Amino acid sequence: MAERPYVIEPMISAKTIAARVEALARAITAAFAGTDKLVVVGLLRGSFIFIADLVRELDLPVEVDFLEASSYGNATESSREVRILKDLRGEIAGRDVLVVEDIVDTGHTLQHVRTLLLARGPKRLEVCALLDKPSRREVDIRATWTGFEICDAFVVGYGIDFAQRNRNLPYIGKVRFLDQGAP
Ligand code: 5GP
Repeated sequence: MAERPYVIEPMISAKTIAARVEALARAITAAFAGTDKLVVVGLLRGSFIFIADLVRELDLPVEVDFLEASSYGNATESSREVRILKDLRGEIAGRDVLVVEDIVDTGHTLQHVRTLLLARGPKRLEVCALLDKPSRREVDIRATWTGFEICDAFVVGYGIDFAQRNRNLPYIGKVRFLDQGAP
């Protein structure tokens, strides 16, 4: 894709994210109280900062694993076709599982991943998504816990990229292109 000039407009501050992550972790800790071990499955790559912050706030025994599903590539529109690029290392049969997703957009990725993991027979499977764009949904699915509902914008930061850039921003911002036209 040709480089297009853009600016990032701050949307959710690092401080606001930290407070919300703490609240999510409290809710998840309460929901899984008494578990022998919670397998926290991060969807790569966009969730890597979120999962790192979230697990440090969980007052539970946790195991961390990762799954990579195909995403937008270098484009800003979902392909709707989901492929597993990297599978879990561990077994989840009979285990408590929390899937950690960066953004639920059309919902296709989450639906595909959920179906795949449920087929492996976990004892319980819940989902925590940092961001949700309900107005973009194409399949009827939602996370058990959501950090923030946002409008239909293309966002970056806090682990989320645009063509592999901007993942290291400590806040979440909206991409605004400086040339005309949709992203
Ligand atoms: P879905 O399958 O729900 O349409 O898409 C989910 C995935 O698309 C997310 O995990 C994320 O990787 C990507 N995605 C959705 N919206 C955005 C966005 O605003 N910015 C970026 N960088 N990726 C997004």
